[in-house]
Amino acid sequence: MNKHLIFQKIIRKEIPSNIVYQDNIVTAFTDIQPKAPIHILIVPNDFIKSANDINKKNKDIFAHMLYVIVNIAKEKRISKEGYKIIINCNKNGGQEINYFHMHLLGGKKLKSLY
Ligand code: 5GP
Repeated sequence: MNKHLIFQKIIRKEIPSNIVYQDNIVTAFTDIQPKAPIHILIVPNDFIKSANDINKKNKDIFAHMLYVIVNIAKEKRISKEGYKIIINCNKNGGQEINYFHMHLLGGKKLKSLY
């Protein structure tokens, strides 16, 4: 299966996943291979391939994604200790799934990436 279709199927609830939040714009679910005690992915419900596809018309979606993910961090009680929000873009950025997503990572001390 084309990897980006996995996220579409999760959004449509056609394959099992642990959805922690969904509205008419975004879906957030736990990562299948968590890199931290809390590892949640958030995606736009309508397909956007990568950060390169952010434009004047769709830019409000990304603000909403950030708003939702910060609220999830508060609900999961990791906001006080802190967390990372990561966006990987294309080959050099380490994007494996070509469906735009943000990672929320927390629940332990995370190393700086650079
Ligand atoms: P990327 O490297 O593209 O930024 O991150 C893709 C993420 O998607 C990885 O952390 C990977 O573990 C996660 N992932 C890949 N396939 C699935 C899946 O079928 N379900 C879920 N929940 N996460 C997935």
